[in-house]
Amino acid sequence: MISIQQAAEIIRSQTIKRSVTVRPLSECSGFYLAEEITSPFDLPSFDNSAMDGYAVCGISDRYDIVGEIPAGDTSDHSLEPGKAVRIFTGAKVPNRTTAVVMQEKSRVNGSVLHIEETVNEGQNIRQKGYELAEGDSVFKSGYFISPASIGLIGSLGLDKVKVFNKPNVRVISTGNELIQPGEKKREGEIYESNSFALQSALARFGFNCQEKTHIRDNFSAIKTGIADYLEQSDILLISGGISVGDYDFVKQALEENGVEELFYKVRQKPGKPLYFGRRENTFVFALPGNPASSLTCFYVHVLPLLQLFSGAKTTGLQHIEIPLNHDYDNRSDRPIFLKALVDHQTVSILNRQSSSMIHSMATGNALVFFDGQTKLRKGERVETILI
Ligand code: AMP
Ligand code: MG
Repeated sequence: MISIQQAAEIIRSQTIKRSVTVRPLSECSGFYLAEEITSPFDLPSFDNSAMDGYAVCGISDRYDIVGEIPAGDTSDHSLEPGKAVRIFTGAKVPNRTTAVVMQEKSRVNGSVLHIEETVNEGQNIRQKGYELAEGDSVFKSGYFISPASIGLIGSLGLDKVKVFNKPNVRVISTGNELIQPGEKKREGEIYESNSFALQSALARFGFNCQEKTHIRDNFSAIKTGIADYLEQSDILLISGGISVGDYDFVKQALEENGVEELFYKVRQKPGKPLYFGRRENTFVFALPGNPASSLTCFYVHVLPLLQLFSGAKTTGLQHIEIPLNHDYDNRSDRPIFLKALVDHQTVSILNRQSSSMIHSMATGNALVFFDGQTKLRKGERVETILI
């Protein structure tokens, strides 16, 4: 059995064959850049007004108004000392503009502008290049494209961006006891929920589950199902059947499909019987079937691989240190992820921690991590993963 850190290192060190696509800007959100972006020009590329008001030439308390410049006016205006033009936010300021005076700080009498504040040179002018200079590196390859990044890239005039492709993910759930939500349930059966939770977790981080299927605990069916999905996937997620029960056929079915085991069993709770393997460029996680185990393994181990595959430089969820909202006595000697709720700068560990229960994960928003047994008082800081 390996440690969480060893598992993370094995995942991190995988060589991954990535591919890239040039996508239209509007379809790049949530992808990782596969190129460096540099600024093709100074941003802004011309001195412009930060306010609706008046562009003035020279320092004075009155000016003659000689014209008007709306945003988007591309002609070349120039001001003489003592003159002013009406100007609007974003409009190019005329040559020889000393400052822009806000319209709220001025008064107009016919064609004369009276200023009700001291005019300071350069005020309310957004200078050419003050956000970025031509040639500045804006984003390195591997950068995550957020909505604001899309906005910035668009403001640089770029309509296409080279990004890493996202992995092709498929999900198999296994178990004789499982029926689909919506079906009529008999005693002894339960609703299959892991594939839905995994599909949703994938979507939440910008990944698509291409296809999913359910297979009963039958060795040859599992072996054939895995063979079929391995062919078509970059990352295959399998739920259930990876533990030590007589009906847990997944590990053997993976072996017989030529999947090389990279690790099996991680010293953690929940999620100990986690399996990770690869066949050529296809990776397989076999996740324990208990709902909280399966989703915890997704957040802790699967997500980093998905991100690496997508070209990310840094992976995983945000960890914070935050005060506990109550005393807590952790008796688990195995490193443990506890379902928790972060609220108002403190964290509360929730009831119903069993790995078979997903309720506390559904009502919480975090996992508190303990490396070993510890007795903590309210207010002590604990490592918390925001999910
Ligand atoms: P297994 O890992 O197959 O031994 O399953 C462990 C526990 O998780 C059992 O109680 C299963 O009924 C439950 N389980 C397995 N797969 C799922 C699933 N897809 N949805 C909900 N519960 C599951
Ligand atoms: Mg099972």
